[in-house]
Amino acid sequence: MTHLKEVVFVTGAASGIGKQIGETFLKEGKTVAFSDINKEKLDEVVAEYTKQGYDAFGILCDVTSEEAINTAIDTVIEKYGRIDILVNNAGLQHVSMIEDFPADKFEFMVKVMLIAPFIAIKRVFPTMKKQKHGRVINMASINGVIGFAGKSAYNSSKHGLIGLTKVAALEAADSGITVNAICPGYVDTPLVRGQFEDLSKTRNIPLENVLEEVLYPLVPQKRLIDVQEIADYVSFLASDKAKGVTGQACILDGGYTAQ
Ligand code: NAD
Repeated sequence: MTHLKEVVFVTGAASGIGKQIGETFLKEGKTVAFSDINKEKLDEVVAEYTKQGYDAFGILCDVTSEEAINTAIDTVIEKYGRIDILVNNAGLQHVSMIEDFPADKFEFMVKVMLIAPFIAIKRVFPTMKKQKHGRVINMASINGVIGFAGKSAYNSSKHGLIGLTKVAALEAADSGITVNAICPGYVDTPLVRGQFEDLSKTRNIPLENVLEEVLYPLVPQKRLIDVQEIADYVSFLASDKAKGVTGQACILDGGYTAQ
C-alpha cells in the first residue's frame, strides 16, 4: 500500500484525539477527511491544515444518522475512488448512576459510540474488500475492559465496541483488512478536562488539585496521556508493520489497568 496515497476518514475529528490522528496522517502524506458534528470547529481545523498545504477536507456528519454516515463515506469514495483507513472516534461522556440515567440518553450514547461504528464499518467493507486492503481503528477506552460506576452507557458502548472489533476483524481477516480497537486511559483532551471540572464541583476539590488528588492515585505513571501518543498508536496500527495485528483491544493507559 505504500506506493498509493492513502485516504483516511476520521469521525469526531474537530477536537482532541480525532484531530491529532488526522494531523498525524496528514504529516505522513495521506489524504484526510475530517468529519464532525461541530461545523464551526471542523471548518477551523480544516482551514488550519489546508493553509499549511496539507490534503485535508471536512465533511459535516452527525454519526447518530445512518444516512449521514453513509453519505459521508460515499463522498470520500466518489472523490478519491478508495478508502484505506476508517477511524471511528466520535464520542461523548456522561456521569450518572443507573437509577438516575434516562433510557433514551443511554440509547443515544450507544448510538454514537457503538451503532455508528457498526454502520461505518458496514459501508467501508465492500470498498476495502475490493481493494484487498483496509484498516479500521475503533476508539474504545479502558472503560471497554473495566467497569466504572456512573458510566453505564459509556462503558456498555465501549465494551460493545471491542466485541464489534473482534467480529469485524474475523469477517475481514482474509481480505487484507485489519480491525482493532484502541483503549486509552486518561488523555489530555477537552472531554477529560470537562470531567475534571465536574469532579472539582461534585467533590469540592479545587480544579488545580484534581489531577494530584483524584487521578494520580489511579494512574501508576502519574500523568495524563498525550493525544500524540494515541495518534502514534493509530498510525502504527494503520501501517504495514501492523498487518498481523487484528481483532485486538490495544490498551494505552499509563499502567491503569495493570493494577
Ligand atoms: P473530544 O470531546 O475532544 O472530541 C470528540 C469529538 O467528537 C468532538 O469534536 C465532538 O464534536 C465529536 N462528536 C460528538 N458527538 C458526535 C456526533 N454525534 N457526530 C459526530 N461527531 C461527534 O473528545 P476526545 O477525548 O478526543 O475523545 C475522542 C474519543 O476517544 C471518544 O470516543 C472517547 O470516548 C475516546 N476516549 C477518550 C479518552 C480521553 O481520556 N480523552 C479516553 C478513552 C477514550
